Amino acid sequence: MKPSFFRSWWFTDRPADELHKGDPVKVFVIGLDCLEYEDVLSWKLDNLMQRYYGRYDVKPAVKEGNPLYTPLIWASFLTGNPSYRYGFSSESLGRRTWGKFYLLYKIRRMIPIRNLHLRRVAINLRIKNLDCGMERMPEEARRDTFLQIAESKGYRVWAKEIPSYNDDLIARYRMSIGLVYNRPLEEKLEALGRVFSDVERLWREALLALPDHDLVMFYSPLPDFAHHMFPTKKMKHRLRMYDVYKRLNEMVSSAPDDAAKLIVSDHGFDSGKFTHSDYGFWSSNVPLPREPKTVLDFKSIVLDLLEE
Ligand SMILES: [Zn+2]
Repeated sequence: MKPSFFRSWWFTDRPADELHKGDPVKVFVIGLDCLEYEDVLSWKLDNLMQRYYGRYDVKPAVKEGNPLYTPLIWASFLTGNPSYRYGFSSESLGRRTWGKFYLLYKIRRMIPIRNLHLRRVAINLRIKNLDCGMERMPEEARRDTFLQIAESKGYRVWAKEIPSYNDDLIARYRMSIGLVYNRPLEEKLEALGRVFSDVERLWREALLALPDHDLVMFYSPLPDFAHHMFPTKKMKHRLRMYDVYKRLNEMVSSAPDDAAKLIVSDHGFDSGKFTHSDYGFWSSNVPLPREPKTVLDFKSIVLDLLEE
Protein backbone atom coordinates (compact mmCIF):
# COMPACT_ATOMS: atom_id res chain seq x y z
CA MET A 1 0.00 0.00 0.00
CA LYS A 2 1.35 3.43 -0.91
CA PRO A 3 1.87 5.47 2.27
CA SER A 4 0.04 8.73 2.78
CA PHE A 5 2.12 11.79 2.03
CA PHE A 6 3.33 12.93 5.44
CA ARG A 7 2.70 9.79 7.41
CA SER A 8 5.54 8.57 9.58
CA TRP A 9 6.43 5.09 10.61
CA TRP A 10 6.93 4.39 14.27
CA PHE A 11 8.57 1.11 15.02
CA THR A 12 7.36 0.77 18.57
CA ASP A 13 4.11 1.28 20.40
CA ARG A 14 5.66 3.95 22.57
CA PRO A 15 3.81 7.26 22.43
CA ALA A 16 5.40 9.89 20.21
CA ASP A 17 5.54 12.37 23.09
CA GLU A 18 7.63 10.09 25.29
CA LEU A 19 10.80 11.99 26.09
CA HIS A 20 14.03 11.64 27.92
CA LYS A 21 13.34 12.83 31.43
CA GLY A 22 15.93 13.94 33.94
CA ASP A 23 19.44 14.70 32.77
CA PRO A 24 19.86 16.74 29.62
CA VAL A 25 20.85 14.62 26.67
CA LYS A 26 23.45 15.38 24.11
CA VAL A 27 21.90 16.21 20.77
CA PHE A 28 23.64 15.35 17.50
CA VAL A 29 22.00 16.92 14.46
CA ILE A 30 23.14 15.32 11.20
CA GLY A 31 22.14 17.35 8.14
CA LEU A 32 22.34 15.43 4.87
CA ASP A 33 21.41 17.72 2.01
CA CYS A 34 18.79 16.33 -0.37
CA LEU A 35 18.57 12.89 1.27
CA GLU A 36 15.49 11.53 -0.50
CA TYR A 37 12.92 9.81 1.69
CA GLU A 38 11.81 7.35 -0.99
CA ASP A 39 15.39 6.26 -1.74
CA VAL A 40 16.29 5.70 1.92
CA LEU A 41 13.21 3.50 2.33
CA SER A 42 13.42 1.59 -0.91
CA TRP A 43 17.10 0.80 -0.35
CA LYS A 44 16.36 -0.08 3.30
CA LEU A 45 19.26 1.92 4.70
CA ASP A 46 18.85 1.14 8.38
CA ASN A 47 21.45 3.52 9.82
CA LEU A 48 19.83 6.46 8.03
CA MET A 49 16.30 5.33 8.97
CA GLN A 50 17.13 4.73 12.65
CA ARG A 51 14.17 3.78 14.88
CA TYR A 52 11.78 6.61 14.06
CA TYR A 53 11.48 8.30 10.71
CA GLY A 54 9.20 10.19 8.42
CA ARG A 55 8.96 13.06 6.02
CA TYR A 56 8.00 16.66 6.52
CA ASP A 57 6.88 19.63 4.44
CA VAL A 58 9.67 21.98 3.29
CA LYS A 59 7.50 24.56 1.49
CA PRO A 60 6.99 26.94 4.46
CA ALA A 61 10.74 27.75 4.26
CA VAL A 62 10.31 30.01 1.21
CA LYS A 63 7.72 32.33 -0.30
CA GLU A 64 5.03 30.49 -2.20
CA GLY A 65 6.27 29.54 -5.67
CA ASN A 66 9.91 30.43 -4.95
CA PRO A 67 12.65 27.82 -5.53
CA LEU A 68 13.54 25.54 -2.61
CA TYR A 69 17.06 26.86 -2.28
CA THR A 70 19.33 25.15 0.24
CA PRO A 71 20.60 28.12 2.34
CA LEU A 72 17.05 29.46 2.71
CA ILE A 73 15.76 26.09 3.93
CA TRP A 74 18.53 25.61 6.50
CA ALA A 75 17.92 29.15 7.76
CA SER A 76 14.26 28.22 8.31
CA PHE A 77 15.24 24.91 9.90
CA LEU A 78 17.58 26.66 12.37
CA THR A 79 15.32 29.61 13.24
CA GLY A 80 11.89 27.96 13.14
CA ASN A 81 10.71 30.84 10.97
CA PRO A 82 10.27 31.24 7.21
CA SER A 83 13.58 32.61 5.93
CA TYR A 84 11.85 35.53 4.15
CA ARG A 85 10.65 36.87 7.50
CA TYR A 86 14.23 38.12 7.90
CA GLY A 87 14.35 39.55 4.39
CA PHE A 88 16.33 36.42 3.41
CA SER A 89 14.78 35.22 0.16
CA SER A 90 15.69 34.01 -3.32
CA GLU A 91 15.17 37.58 -4.52
CA SER A 92 17.54 39.14 -1.97
CA LEU A 93 20.08 36.32 -2.36
CA GLY A 94 19.89 36.48 -6.14
CA ARG A 95 20.58 40.21 -6.19
CA ARG A 96 23.38 39.86 -3.67
CA THR A 97 25.20 36.91 -5.24
CA TRP A 98 24.65 37.61 -8.92
CA GLY A 99 25.08 41.39 -8.77
CA LYS A 100 24.93 42.82 -12.26
CA PHE A 101 24.34 39.31 -13.67
CA TYR A 102 21.02 38.95 -11.84
CA LEU A 103 19.03 39.46 -15.03
CA LEU A 104 20.98 36.66 -16.72
CA TYR A 105 20.23 34.39 -13.78
CA LYS A 106 16.51 35.15 -14.04
CA ILE A 107 16.47 34.48 -17.77
CA ARG A 108 18.34 31.19 -17.26
CA ARG A 109 15.72 30.10 -14.74
CA MET A 110 12.95 30.75 -17.25
CA ILE A 111 14.51 28.47 -19.89
CA PRO A 112 13.54 24.87 -19.15
CA ILE A 113 15.90 23.36 -21.75
CA ARG A 114 19.00 21.66 -20.41
CA ASN A 115 22.45 21.61 -22.01
CA LEU A 116 22.32 25.12 -23.39
CA HIS A 117 25.69 25.70 -21.67
CA LEU A 118 24.10 28.76 -20.11
CA ARG A 119 24.59 27.12 -16.71
CA ARG A 120 28.33 27.02 -17.31
CA VAL A 121 28.48 30.61 -18.52
CA ALA A 122 26.30 31.76 -15.65
CA ILE A 123 28.30 29.91 -13.00
CA ASN A 124 31.58 31.27 -14.34
CA LEU A 125 30.20 34.79 -14.20
CA ARG A 126 28.88 34.18 -10.73
CA ILE A 127 32.20 32.80 -9.49
CA LYS A 128 33.82 36.05 -10.59
CA ASN A 129 31.34 37.77 -8.31
CA LEU A 130 31.79 35.24 -5.53
CA ASP A 131 32.20 35.95 -1.88
CA CYS A 132 31.49 33.00 0.40
CA GLY A 133 29.76 35.17 2.96
CA MET A 134 27.13 36.31 0.50
CA GLU A 135 24.70 33.53 1.32
CA ARG A 136 24.80 34.08 5.08
CA MET A 137 21.56 34.78 6.91
CA PRO A 138 21.08 38.25 8.47
CA GLU A 139 22.27 38.82 12.05
CA GLU A 140 18.70 39.02 13.32
CA ALA A 141 18.09 35.49 12.03
CA ARG A 142 21.34 34.16 13.53
CA ARG A 143 20.16 35.27 16.96
CA ASP A 144 17.01 33.17 16.47
CA THR A 145 18.84 29.95 15.53
CA PHE A 146 18.68 27.07 17.99
CA LEU A 147 22.49 27.06 17.84
CA GLN A 148 22.80 30.58 19.26
CA ILE A 149 19.88 30.18 21.66
CA ALA A 150 21.43 26.99 23.08
CA GLU A 151 24.76 28.79 23.43
CA SER A 152 23.14 31.73 25.21
CA LYS A 153 21.62 29.25 27.67
CA GLY A 154 25.06 27.92 28.52
CA TYR A 155 25.08 24.78 26.41
CA ARG A 156 28.31 23.91 24.67
CA VAL A 157 27.62 24.04 20.94
CA TRP A 158 29.69 22.83 17.99
CA ALA A 159 28.51 23.52 14.44
CA LYS A 160 30.69 23.75 11.35
CA GLU A 161 30.03 24.49 7.68
CA ILE A 162 26.28 24.91 8.15
CA PRO A 163 24.66 26.55 5.07
CA SER A 164 23.71 30.19 5.61
CA TYR A 165 25.05 30.04 9.19
CA ASN A 166 28.80 29.58 8.99
CA ASP A 167 29.66 27.75 5.78
CA ASP A 168 32.73 28.71 3.82
CA LEU A 169 34.14 25.62 2.05
CA ILE A 170 30.58 24.35 1.50
CA ALA A 171 29.43 27.73 0.14
CA ARG A 172 32.25 27.62 -2.40
CA TYR A 173 31.28 24.09 -3.41
CA ARG A 174 27.63 25.11 -3.75
CA MET A 175 28.51 27.99 -6.04
CA SER A 176 30.92 26.09 -8.27
CA ILE A 177 30.02 22.38 -8.28
CA GLY A 178 27.42 22.98 -11.01
CA LEU A 179 30.32 23.29 -13.46
CA VAL A 180 30.74 19.50 -13.46
CA TYR A 181 27.06 18.49 -13.54
CA ASN A 182 27.11 17.96 -17.30
CA ARG A 183 30.75 16.90 -17.66
CA PRO A 184 32.07 13.42 -18.54
CA LEU A 185 31.73 10.70 -15.92
CA GLU A 186 35.40 10.75 -14.83
CA GLU A 187 35.20 14.46 -14.00
CA LYS A 188 32.03 13.96 -11.99
CA LEU A 189 33.51 11.07 -10.04
CA GLU A 190 36.68 13.02 -9.37
CA ALA A 191 34.66 15.95 -8.00
CA LEU A 192 32.48 13.60 -5.96
CA GLY A 193 35.60 12.00 -4.46
CA ARG A 194 36.87 15.42 -3.37
CA VAL A 195 33.55 16.32 -1.75
CA PHE A 196 33.38 12.95 0.00
CA SER A 197 36.84 13.37 1.50
CA ASP A 198 35.83 16.78 2.91
CA VAL A 199 32.53 15.39 4.19
CA GLU A 200 34.24 12.48 5.93
CA ARG A 201 36.83 14.82 7.47
CA LEU A 202 34.03 17.05 8.84
CA TRP A 203 32.29 13.92 10.13
CA ARG A 204 35.40 12.87 12.07
CA GLU A 205 35.67 16.40 13.51
CA ALA A 206 32.02 16.26 14.62
CA LEU A 207 32.55 12.89 16.33
CA LEU A 208 35.61 14.26 18.12
CA ALA A 209 33.55 17.26 19.28
CA LEU A 210 30.75 15.12 20.76
CA PRO A 211 32.31 14.29 24.15
CA ASP A 212 32.87 17.98 25.00
CA HIS A 213 29.64 19.48 23.68
CA ASP A 214 25.92 19.31 24.42
CA LEU A 215 24.77 20.12 20.90
CA VAL A 216 26.72 19.14 17.80
CA MET A 217 25.56 19.88 14.28
CA PHE A 218 27.19 18.26 11.28
CA TYR A 219 26.28 19.02 7.67
CA SER A 220 27.03 17.28 4.36
CA PRO A 221 26.26 18.69 0.88
CA LEU A 222 25.93 15.06 -0.20
CA PRO A 223 23.81 13.48 -1.51
CA ASP A 224 22.63 16.75 -3.12
CA PHE A 225 25.59 17.25 -5.48
CA ALA A 226 25.41 13.60 -6.55
CA HIS A 227 21.68 13.84 -7.32
CA HIS A 228 22.40 16.76 -9.66
CA MET A 229 25.23 14.80 -11.33
CA PHE A 230 23.09 11.67 -11.76
CA PRO A 231 19.58 13.10 -11.93
CA THR A 232 17.60 10.61 -14.03
CA LYS A 233 15.81 7.35 -13.40
CA LYS A 234 18.18 5.50 -15.73
CA MET A 235 19.72 2.45 -14.12
CA LYS A 236 23.29 3.78 -14.50
CA HIS A 237 22.33 6.91 -12.53
CA ARG A 238 20.35 5.03 -9.91
CA LEU A 239 23.30 2.71 -9.26
CA ARG A 240 25.62 5.69 -8.76
CA MET A 241 23.14 7.15 -6.29
CA TYR A 242 22.87 3.85 -4.46
CA ASP A 243 26.66 3.89 -3.96
CA VAL A 244 26.49 7.40 -2.50
CA TYR A 245 23.61 6.53 -0.15
CA LYS A 246 25.33 3.32 0.98
CA ARG A 247 28.50 5.25 1.82
CA LEU A 248 26.54 7.82 3.84
CA ASN A 249 24.63 5.01 5.56
CA GLU A 250 27.98 3.49 6.53
CA MET A 251 29.37 6.82 7.71
CA VAL A 252 26.52 7.61 10.12
CA SER A 253 26.79 4.12 11.65
CA SER A 254 29.96 5.26 13.43
CA ALA A 255 28.09 7.81 15.57
CA PRO A 256 27.83 6.78 19.24
CA ASP A 257 24.39 5.89 20.58
CA ASP A 258 24.54 7.89 23.79
CA ALA A 259 23.36 11.07 22.02
CA ALA A 260 19.92 11.83 20.63
CA LYS A 261 20.67 11.60 16.90
CA LEU A 262 18.50 13.52 14.51
CA ILE A 263 19.18 12.94 10.81
CA VAL A 264 17.51 15.54 8.60
CA SER A 265 17.49 16.51 4.94
CA ASP A 266 16.39 19.92 3.71
CA HIS A 267 14.47 18.45 0.72
CA GLY A 268 14.65 15.35 -1.45
CA PHE A 269 15.21 14.87 -5.16
CA ASP A 270 12.60 14.07 -7.80
CA SER A 271 14.41 11.97 -10.41
CA GLY A 272 11.45 12.28 -12.77
CA LYS A 273 11.53 16.08 -12.82
CA PHE A 274 15.28 16.58 -12.19
CA THR A 275 14.54 18.90 -9.31
CA HIS A 276 14.31 19.14 -5.52
CA SER A 277 11.23 17.51 -4.02
CA ASP A 278 9.22 19.61 -1.60
CA TYR A 279 9.45 17.30 1.38
CA GLY A 280 12.41 16.40 3.56
CA PHE A 281 13.47 13.29 5.45
CA TRP A 282 13.97 12.99 9.19
CA SER A 283 14.89 10.15 11.50
CA SER A 284 15.80 9.74 15.14
CA ASN A 285 17.16 7.08 17.47
CA VAL A 286 14.99 8.39 20.35
CA PRO A 287 11.32 9.39 20.48
CA LEU A 288 10.96 13.07 19.65
CA PRO A 289 8.85 15.47 21.72
CA ARG A 290 6.64 15.99 18.68
CA GLU A 291 6.57 14.57 15.20
CA PRO A 292 7.97 17.21 12.79
CA LYS A 293 5.35 18.19 10.22
CA THR A 294 7.16 21.12 8.60
CA VAL A 295 10.69 22.53 8.41
CA LEU A 296 9.68 25.09 11.04
CA ASP A 297 9.14 22.42 13.73
CA PHE A 298 12.73 21.32 14.29
CA LYS A 299 13.99 24.29 16.28
CA SER A 300 11.70 23.67 19.23
CA ILE A 301 12.24 19.90 18.98
CA VAL A 302 16.02 20.30 19.25
CA LEU A 303 15.76 22.79 22.14
CA ASP A 304 13.27 20.55 23.97
CA LEU A 305 15.54 17.54 23.53
CA LEU A 306 18.39 19.56 25.06
CA GLU A 307 16.36 20.89 27.95
CA GLU A 308 13.98 18.13 28.96
ZN1 LIG B 1 19.60 21.36 -0.22
